[in-house]
Amino acid sequence: IKKTIGFIGLGQMGYPMAQNLHEATKNTHKFIIYDNNARATTNFTSSNSGTKAASTPRDVAAESDILFTMLPASAHVRAVYEGSDGVLEGVTPGTICVDCSTIDVRTARDVAKNVEAKQAVMLDAPVSGGTPAAQNGTLTFMVGAPQSQFEGVKEFLQKMGKNVFYCGENGTGQAAKICNNMMLGICMVGASETFNLGLRLGLEPELLNKILNTSSGRSWSTDTYHLVPGLNPNVPASKDYEGGFGVSLMAKDLGLAVSAATEVKSSVMLGSAAEQLYKIIAGTEGYEKKDFSVVFRWLGGEKIG
Ligand code: NAD
Repeated sequence: IKKTIGFIGLGQMGYPMAQNLHEATKNTHKFIIYDNNARATTNFTSSNSGTKAASTPRDVAAESDILFTMLPASAHVRAVYEGSDGVLEGVTPGTICVDCSTIDVRTARDVAKNVEAKQAVMLDAPVSGGTPAAQNGTLTFMVGAPQSQFEGVKEFLQKMGKNVFYCGENGTGQAAKICNNMMLGICMVGASETFNLGLRLGLEPELLNKILNTSSGRSWSTDTYHLVPGLNPNVPASKDYEGGFGVSLMAKDLGLAVSAATEVKSSVMLGSAAEQLYKIIAGTEGYEKKDFSVVFRWLGGEKIG
């Protein structure tokens, strides 16, 4: 009998991840999905033949041997796992649950305990790389789980990503992710301020970009996820800052980093400043749903020239 893969949460990231996973496993596994946005599930099942949608997370869990979740934040993960008709009501002993959402370490550990109480297994496996890497199957996974579970799940993660790191016990995948995203948020703000300044000083964006990328100012925000419209046709900046990684998600991740830092008495001055800035941007009319590279527009960068 074919084993079954479940996938809950078909948003900007989950949709292409599920597509890659299904494509790579369609001869060996059945595939069942759920999202509370009916449009996402209908789109998915109609463009990926052989997949089917369930009507609750419980039903997905009941059928799945391995279940992936990719949800916005801690509250959604709690609702999907612990809510009524949730995953915990459906999992059977031995089911492997892999949460790829970015959430706080404590919630990741709590949910893992509740899953283990059902004799099932839980891994936190948040990702980095953004929507292009989700589409291309080149994500980086950071995994927190009992080590004995890692190898078996790795082969599935490799169908959606190219780097898979084992970080330690449950919650450590989230810790690594929070660190990465604090760095990313700080760099994106810094790169946006840099281009805004450079353009105001009369530099052409293409030239400044080339110089930065062959100099010590280079970062992912300058060499991969260009923030000035037109530098790279495939990133949100060139699509009116649509799609990608929302400003409120970045504000959330910086908040996770800042509160984790408070707990362990680690000072994060720039992390806090970036958090404040992203909260303000997320609350600015017209910016709530934009990609986090929209800092450049918010600073007035597009009006130069
Ligand atoms: P998204 O908001 O685009 O997608 C979330 C999906 O979850 C939506 O389809 C939504 O309908 C669904 N959902 C919400 N509540 C639900 C529920 N109760 N039951 C079922 N489905 C529910 O978010 P995203 O951009 O795909 O991000 C998902 C996670 O990945 C977040 O934790 C984010 O921080 C992280 N992440 C995002 C990016 C990125 O570039 N977008 C990169 C790395 C990590």
